[in-house]
Amino acid sequence: MNNLDIRMTNPLLTQQQLPAFSQITPELVVPTIEQLLTHNREKIAAIADQQQPTWQSLPAQLEELDDTLSKAWSLVSHLNAVTNSPAWRDAYNQCLAKISAYYTEIGQNSKLYQSYQQLADSADFEQLSTAQQQTIKNALRDFKLSGVALADDRKQRFADIEERLSALSAKFADNLLDATQAWHKPLTDAELQGLPEAHQGLLAQLAQQRGLTGHVATLDIPAYLAVMTYANDRALRQEVYTAYVTRASELSADGKFDNSAFMAEILSLRYEQAQLLGYDNYAQLSLVPKMASSVDVVMQFLQELAQRAKPAAQQDLAELREFAATLGINDLQPWDTSYVSEKLKQQKHNLSQEVLRAYFPAPMVIDGLFKIAERLYGVDIRAQQVDVWAEDVTYYTISEQGKTIASFYLDPYARANKRGGAWMSNCQSRRATQLPIAFLTCNFNPPVGDKPALLTHDEVITLFHEFGHGLHHMLTEVDVTAVGGIHGVAWDAVELPSQFMEHWCWEEQALALMTQHIETGEALPKALLDNLLAAKNFQSGLQTLRQLEFALFDLSIHSQAPLTAQGIQDTLNAVRNEVSVMPPPAFNRFQHSFSHIFAGGYAAGYYSYKWAEVLSSDAFSRFEQEGIFNRETGLSFRQNVLAKGGSQPALALFVAFRGREPSIDALLRHSGLEKA
Ligand code: ZN
Repeated sequence: MNNLDIRMTNPLLTQQQLPAFSQITPELVVPTIEQLLTHNREKIAAIADQQQPTWQSLPAQLEELDDTLSKAWSLVSHLNAVTNSPAWRDAYNQCLAKISAYYTEIGQNSKLYQSYQQLADSADFEQLSTAQQQTIKNALRDFKLSGVALADDRKQRFADIEERLSALSAKFADNLLDATQAWHKPLTDAELQGLPEAHQGLLAQLAQQRGLTGHVATLDIPAYLAVMTYANDRALRQEVYTAYVTRASELSADGKFDNSAFMAEILSLRYEQAQLLGYDNYAQLSLVPKMASSVDVVMQFLQELAQRAKPAAQQDLAELREFAATLGINDLQPWDTSYVSEKLKQQKHNLSQEVLRAYFPAPMVIDGLFKIAERLYGVDIRAQQVDVWAEDVTYYTISEQGKTIASFYLDPYARANKRGGAWMSNCQSRRATQLPIAFLTCNFNPPVGDKPALLTHDEVITLFHEFGHGLHHMLTEVDVTAVGGIHGVAWDAVELPSQFMEHWCWEEQALALMTQHIETGEALPKALLDNLLAAKNFQSGLQTLRQLEFALFDLSIHSQAPLTAQGIQDTLNAVRNEVSVMPPPAFNRFQHSFSHIFAGGYAAGYYSYKWAEVLSSDAFSRFEQEGIFNRETGLSFRQNVLAKGGSQPALALFVAFRGREPSIDALLRHSGLEKA
């Protein structure tokens, strides 16, 4: 294949220019990706064959090959997510297995592994930059974790397990989806009592989608939460709760989609992989590339936090029980907690999301966010007209002293055929010859008519969170892609910059920059801010304990010999007995729908959420001490954390910024748990 030819004419292969989105069609995807994979395989075979590998002849060459493929695949993944259609989905799915087979192949390529080892052992190694050395160390680690160094028969077994595990994860997720969709319940008018109009509208829409009239309760999260939070009918809440917490288990209504056997097999295969690589258990293996140094350290961290949160949770529960009694509920059950909590929150804090929203017009919030970033990091953010994939999308450049250093696309609003949720993804990564570009995607309620969209405070937090990931990607100063921006950052530290940015959403001075009442034009008044702050840690004890229960359960089942479905249940019960203040009923099968660890990347890593929160809270506490708009502190965060990406271990970067190791105090204070 002549590489140059396809680049000249193919909009998926962007050279130095921005992608021409209007010219990218799904028909281009399969042939382009296939061509790139073939081309890369030929080149890699030649690269792996060399006698005297150097930085230039090995990692730099692989970076070049990977960059072209990554940029094309980023565009495909992005357009599949934000302009989804049967043609896009088909093109994307056709390539998915090919891409993952390609990366597995590289991971198990012994020649490539030996070349990296040779480079690490050579005299050249000491001459390389910190980022280059870290890249080589990471590569050697990842090769080993892919089983490259095993004897041939074991290597094959390892690869077989890998393949089986990815099939099992998919089966787990499919079962959960099928079980969720298999259940629905038509509702009478009496059963709808208590549900706000918008939520009733959702249940009517779900009925329509099923070819029914009236309203239905379903187990999709928004519908489930609507019933659990608002339905006055207690028997209905109990019925929906029971269906929800037995999904995909032996207790589910039809029993067709039971995940029990898959869970046991997944644990057993993960354990075998860990043993093949010489670790005692899967939790040990999972922690190798993470920031936390050992299973014991994580276990202690979670248990300490649980001890701190438990008294607060007991207080939360006592308050909830007392309030429930005033509603005539004298034996508070799990199907009552969301319902009673919502009523209590209304009574205590009188916080109406609708009233608040009027102060957060989206253009004002976005402008305020940019002002905050500009003040902290000394950059300029400007919109620019370029080719985009939808009308609402805006392209912005980030510059410093008149020089562009990065750019991003912001796609803020929900739209038909756009995947739900919010995320930051990579459009292109920084290299010596290339600036970083990010995609920031959210799904806020779109503007209606000529009025701007009004955001809820939660949506504002989401925007700041994703922008924090974006800054990590865009303000990197590392020229080696493999450890620049979020690349190479430990899984349990990657949420640091994102959770960190959220803190400005709770600060009076920052809110003044991003709020302006849609009619009166006034900034958020002090009284509303006080309500917002007072409600911030509502039931924080109970919520913290719940997260810790999941994290301890996850770590526990992965740090022992494989368990049967019953053994998994026993472990969960033991964790609940230890940390929960209100253990769920015996029929609760939460574990059968715990996709984070059985179908996602969080196995023996669910603790990462809390772990990163310690880092982000503690990092922000330096701003509380020195001023939330202190430029010097901002630049220190930029230089020590954002600019360095994954080029040094996360702990070293944190210490460089904070002047000491992380402390849990700020997290306890920010979550209202310090006096506990
Ligand atoms: Zn995040």
